[in-house]
Amino acid sequence: MNNNLSADVVVIGAGVSGSLLATRLAKAGKSVLLLESGPKVSRDALVERFRASAFKSDFMSPYPFSEMAPQPRYTPEPNGYLQQTGPHAFNAQYIRMFGGTSWHWAAQLWRYVPNDFRQHSQYGIGKDWPIAYDDLEDYYYQAEVIAGVGGAPDNGSPRAKPFPMDAVPASWLQQRVTDRLAPDFTVLDDCTGRNSRSFDGRPACCGNNNCMPVCPIDAQYHGGLAAAQAEASGVNIITEAVAYKLEHDIQGNIVAVWYYDWNKVSHRVTGKTFVLSANAIETPKLLLMSVSDKFPQGIANARDNVGRNLCDHPAIGVTFDVDEPIWPGRGPVSPCSIGQFRDGEFRKEHAPFRIDISNASQVASVTKELLQQGYFGKKLEEQIQFRAARRLSIKNAMEQLPDPNNRVTLSSKKDPLGLPTPELYWSVGEYEQRGAKVTRDNYDAIAAKLGATNIKHSKEGEFSNRQHITGTLSMGLDPASSVTDAFGRAHDHENLFMVGTGVMPTVGTCNVTLTAMALALRTADKILEETQHA
Ligand SMILES: Cc1cc2nc3c(=O)[nH]c(=O)nc-3n(C[C@H](O)[C@H](O)[C@H](O)COP(=O)(O)OP(=O)(O)OC[C@H]3O[C@@H](n4cnc5c(N)ncnc54)[C@H](O)[C@@H]3O)c2cc1C
Ligand code: SF4
Repeated sequence: MNNNLSADVVVIGAGVSGSLLATRLAKAGKSVLLLESGPKVSRDALVERFRASAFKSDFMSPYPFSEMAPQPRYTPEPNGYLQQTGPHAFNAQYIRMFGGTSWHWAAQLWRYVPNDFRQHSQYGIGKDWPIAYDDLEDYYYQAEVIAGVGGAPDNGSPRAKPFPMDAVPASWLQQRVTDRLAPDFTVLDDCTGRNSRSFDGRPACCGNNNCMPVCPIDAQYHGGLAAAQAEASGVNIITEAVAYKLEHDIQGNIVAVWYYDWNKVSHRVTGKTFVLSANAIETPKLLLMSVSDKFPQGIANARDNVGRNLCDHPAIGVTFDVDEPIWPGRGPVSPCSIGQFRDGEFRKEHAPFRIDISNASQVASVTKELLQQGYFGKKLEEQIQFRAARRLSIKNAMEQLPDPNNRVTLSSKKDPLGLPTPELYWSVGEYEQRGAKVTRDNYDAIAAKLGATNIKHSKEGEFSNRQHITGTLSMGLDPASSVTDAFGRAHDHENLFMVGTGVMPTVGTCNVTLTAMALALRTADKILEETQHA
């Protein structure tokens, strides 16, 4: 056992949230130690792993798997890491590696709309946040500058300053869909952290459509860049370090975190301030594992709120063939959205949603479909060309209301380090089912305007995850119904903070990470403000 590790601030999890916070603290002169459960792998090695993979459409395939820091996998077979107990499967995907889950994302970096922060007072449903949009506006901008975000300015989220980056030029698909859906549907540029010019030492996007699972040329911002910046700023990052227990003193302040290295050797790390950023499922797991005589239900869990209110965007989709070639597969995979259903009085009745229009290449899925239909030879080739040029795929990001019964707990199954795997209960309620019905009607209207044939809706009553996991460490004013305060500080532990999407009390209708990045920067400033004379 190594007892010598210590720092002013100990951060757990080198994803984008923890890395941004660690960088800000290190740049302000704090000694910062960051524990990361996974390995460090270069982008070149990941691109090579992607090229060698037989499962090109599986976003996890380039990312190394270790039993020592397991991550959920679904291909070729589900590995069962996340034990499901609810009526709907919560098939979360995340990466345990230096840089975290945003290695294989689409870098959609949206702001919430102001009413997302006051859902309950405005519409009588869900929860209000303990902060307002205006509290986050400047932090949103700081995060956008770091990630080089561009997008459509009038998207429902007011801005004091223009986007720091122009949007990437519209693909042919985006141009045709925008023209043909107007004026009933307004198609907007997605807000993305994707270079339209060389920026931050990285090149402009060249439109090769591989954003998920990995951008080969690094034109897209991601957590690997954030973690590298943390290291360059003086943060000591220890990889293959799996935090498994928080230790507290008699007052309940955290004094140390314990981790296993991948040889199962235990290490104790002391610090003055501790920040958990191990994502919205692994952070609650760590808190629930940290039981003691004083805290028999785990750290920060005296009122049994840790892990509750698990939310994502339950999504439904549709595919169809447009009556003209639109050429999906040229340009970024996620160029544009329809945002007009994100906010309005209808939120009293049914879930709001955003409609995401995919530009991902359809060649693989169309080929599979044609082979199943018995095509071969020249006819197969002709049909691949015909259908792949016309196939449009759309899905939504629908807001789910927080429900305390939806939750992360510890299963009885153990990983090779002897740590329990997460157990999830997830149910999609009536509010969201009504939102799904409205979405489906709009999908039909969109299909009609595009002269669609071969329309295929996703199965009624089934929802896929959009991987926007929130709520499990919910911030709030009332300790009876939340885990942290408005800065991510655990209500009962003065020197313990949490960052990442888990602290977000509601999930809104947009990809959640920009909000988590803004909150992490805000928490970093709070820690600095409180400890500057320490
Ligand atoms: C396919 C896909 C596409 C996505 N696309 C988008 C998108 O376009 N826009 C968007 O906003 N969001 C997107 N997301 C979600 C986004 O990736 C996450 O919201 C984001 O990565 C969260 O960042 P984080 O730093 O909080 O957590 P993570 O990125 O998950 O990082 C957490 C880190 O903590 C480490 N860790 C975990 N347990 C421990 C432990 N016990 N000890 C030490 N370290 C630990 C992990 O190894 C990991 O590196 C996508 C997600 C997926 C799966
Ligand atoms: S389109 Fe290509 S270059 Fe542009 S972000 Fe996606 S993968 Fe990177």
